[in-house]
Amino acid sequence: MDSQESAFRYALDAGAFYTGLIFLSSTYRYYTTQAVFDEVKHIKRSHGAIEALIESNTLQILNSGRNSIEKVVAAARRTGDYAKLSDADISIIALALQLEIVLVTNDYAVANVATTLKIPVKSVAGKGITHTRRWIAYCSACGKAFGPNAKECRLCGNRLRRKYKLI
Ligand SMILES: [Zn+2]
Repeated sequence: MDSQESAFRYALDAGAFYTGLIFLSSTYRYYTTQAVFDEVKHIKRSHGAIEALIESNTLQILNSGRNSIEKVVAAARRTGDYAKLSDADISIIALALQLEIVLVTNDYAVANVATTLKIPVKSVAGKGITHTRRWIAYCSACGKAFGPNAKECRLCGNRLRRKYKLI
């Protein structure tokens, strides 16, 4: 299979670098934005690993376009996550949207906004980039689960809480 296929291309947010740097493999292609790179380039234990990934073209820094950024901002306002997102967060969601690739993040708000834009989301845990997160909303009173963006329980009217499942 060609390494340019979307299944082998990942957009990495800052948390993905902090947690997943040691798992990154030259078999894949990784993408991030300048804003995320500025955040992570000082990771102490990287020992130049990030620079080496860039030199070997395994990691590319690209800028997300204005159009994608606007779509992400609009989606974040709809889900109520906008205040929780940094400019770097918004830039990486926009890049994943633009390149139509999987976004790797361990951040709830980032994953939630990405999911509403139909961007596939994976997280880093244990042995690397393996888990797909699926967000659900649930009622703490009656226990009923709903889709990720439901706000109140249709049975008892309670405000819903959100949590994720690893699948
Ligand atoms: Zn309920």
